[in-house]
Amino acid sequence: MDSSKIYAIALDGPSGAGKSTVAKLVAKTLGITYLDTGALYRTLGYVCLKNGVDVNDGSAVEQCIKDVDVNIAYNGGVQSVIADGVDVSSEIRTPEVSMAASAVSAIPYVRQKLLGLQRGIAEKSSIILDGRDIGTVVLPQAEFKFFLTASAEERARRRFDELTAKGQIVTYEDVLSDVVTRDRNDSTRAIAPLKRADDAVEINSDKMSAQEVADYICSAVNGDLI
Ligand code: C5P
Repeated sequence: MDSSKIYAIALDGPSGAGKSTVAKLVAKTLGITYLDTGALYRTLGYVCLKNGVDVNDGSAVEQCIKDVDVNIAYNGGVQSVIADGVDVSSEIRTPEVSMAASAVSAIPYVRQKLLGLQRGIAEKSSIILDGRDIGTVVLPQAEFKFFLTASAEERARRRFDELTAKGQIVTYEDVLSDVVTRDRNDSTRAIAPLKRADDAVEINSDKMSAQEVADYICSAVNGDLI
């Protein structure tokens, strides 16, 4: 790989497949930027919840978010997401906001609003983006594309561990049911559904650690794979 050339790695897949952990490891190893695109949808979902807006009502959501300025900041490589100047990075990590993000992400106006922002960030430097439609819609020309999967049970188990480690009170059954509902919302929506790009490499992480997946991706990018 020509080290002077800017490149993009698209890492798509369903909720809880481990995309963000893997993407952070890859970004660190390769010394590139990481963009967690889910945080952008979460931010708009959060703003709607905070304003008491029905997240399934497209025109109410559009009205609520149209003037909201969403931005990303990096501090020591860690991404923060800013809505109208306020850092909402921790507020967006609750199960309620996950479901709100899933609902608002099906609204065309929401996806359009975030498209330019994602492409603008990807133009500036080499980057790995994790999301649902990076390889299909946001950056169909990305040099590298991966689709990370795992069974719903395994993904729910990981999400449950993550939430309880943060002190949130949740049950495994509720987390699994959220995972299944979000999978259904994300893969059946009319616009930019969760879908593997034809030219993406699929990786099932049921029996792989995040580090193993990251090593595989770094090897592919460095051209070390046979
Ligand atoms: O990845 P994360 O779980 O943080 O994403 C939250 C929600 O945002 C997803 O369930 C999905 O509905 C939406 N999303 C999306 N497209 C992306 C990233 C996230 O629709 N590129």
